[in-house]
Amino acid sequence: MNHAHTIKSIHAREVLDSRGNPTIAALVTLTNGAAAEAMVPSGASTGAHEAVELRDGDTKRFGGLGVLQAVRHVNTVIAKALRGQDVLHHRQLDAIMLRLDGTRNKAKLGANAILAVSLATARVGAVSTKRPLYQHIRRLYGLRQRGWILPYPLMNIVNGGKHADNGLEFQEFMIVPQARRFTERIRQGAEVFHALKNYLHSQGLATAVGDEGGFAPQLKNNEAALRAIRAAVQQAGYRFGQDIKIALDPASSEFYNATTGQYTVDGKAISPATLNRLYARWAKTYHIISIEDGLAEDDWDNWREHTALLGKRLNLVGDDLFVTNVERLQAGINQGVANAILIKVNQIGTLSETLATIALAQQHHYAVVVSHRSGETEDTTIADLSVAVNAEYIKTGSLSRSDRVAKYNRLLAIAEQIKLLG
Ligand code: PGA
Ligand code: ZN
Repeated sequence: MNHAHTIKSIHAREVLDSRGNPTIAALVTLTNGAAAEAMVPSGASTGAHEAVELRDGDTKRFGGLGVLQAVRHVNTVIAKALRGQDVLHHRQLDAIMLRLDGTRNKAKLGANAILAVSLATARVGAVSTKRPLYQHIRRLYGLRQRGWILPYPLMNIVNGGKHADNGLEFQEFMIVPQARRFTERIRQGAEVFHALKNYLHSQGLATAVGDEGGFAPQLKNNEAALRAIRAAVQQAGYRFGQDIKIALDPASSEFYNATTGQYTVDGKAISPATLNRLYARWAKTYHIISIEDGLAEDDWDNWREHTALLGKRLNLVGDDLFVTNVERLQAGINQGVANAILIKVNQIGTLSETLATIALAQQHHYAVVVSHRSGETEDTTIADLSVAVNAEYIKTGSLSRSDRVAKYNRLLAIAEQIKLLG
């Protein structure tokens, strides 16, 4: 037997995410000396159906948000069960952790504990085999994708909802640069970001940034964010709708009233039908190509209508709706709900389940958007993941804050390597 890629030790500890809240880092060391670490992200507008992020609830530490229990789970039961295992049998590692946990939603060990190890074992396999992570993931899971493509970034340059305190109900207003080359998409995005800063400043508006590095000005309504972005695109010298298109993540579960079935937009309660008409109108006026969580996570009847009305022209992305869960995605496919999926590794908690969900989506021609969380770290695994699966899109925030830019910088490095490979 070849023991070259055997796990020697796993060690987790508490570190901070980009909001200053605790999260888990796990370091995996092999008997051959290879070592790699992964860190777990954390959401704010968390879907009700996500896997459990285990928090201590001890209000004397970090306001109850400590993750020492999850850290302990890694350092005791998980480390013990995985010691001696081969990191090139990655699916098997995830399966062992799922068995140890034994719950449907990873409530016992914590999805954060399991994910830290799932990602760190993938990363150390890449180190040990001396392959870039995106290539390693593709080989490790025998993915059938051929060739390499780089995703279109969805760049969140105006933050609202739970990621800011500016009163906008819509959470994310994103630009989607259209240049053929990835490096140019990044440049376009950064130039529009700076033009938007100048524009907001000229209007006497604040240019401090929200959780995902986008601006969070006190605009008078949601549409004003779209107008500001249009002005910025033009000031940057780009053609709005051609060089730069728009994507929205209203994250509407956050402004849905389950009792009345209505949505509160610009302070007014409106019906799902009215909201759909608003989306259709804005999509035309503002060159929107993608709407994520346009309706709430359990509003399935109206999601069908939403998809029938808008699904031919737009990517309708399920985030809280699908929570990277293969069963919820299958229900969506069966019911004609959405045509794209947001992929967040910590919604489901293992790399193997994440890849299974992506595979199902791709089989059914749902567009794949690999995504960060609003609480991030310097970990760039999602950049490699997006390339491993040939995802059409990556959503990883604005053009500021190192927790966001780290992913773009990793993709720039991959872009250069792929050019060499090609
Ligand atoms: P979250 O937001 O990470 O706070 O959940 C991101 C999103 O809704 O896409
Ligand atoms: Zn979302």
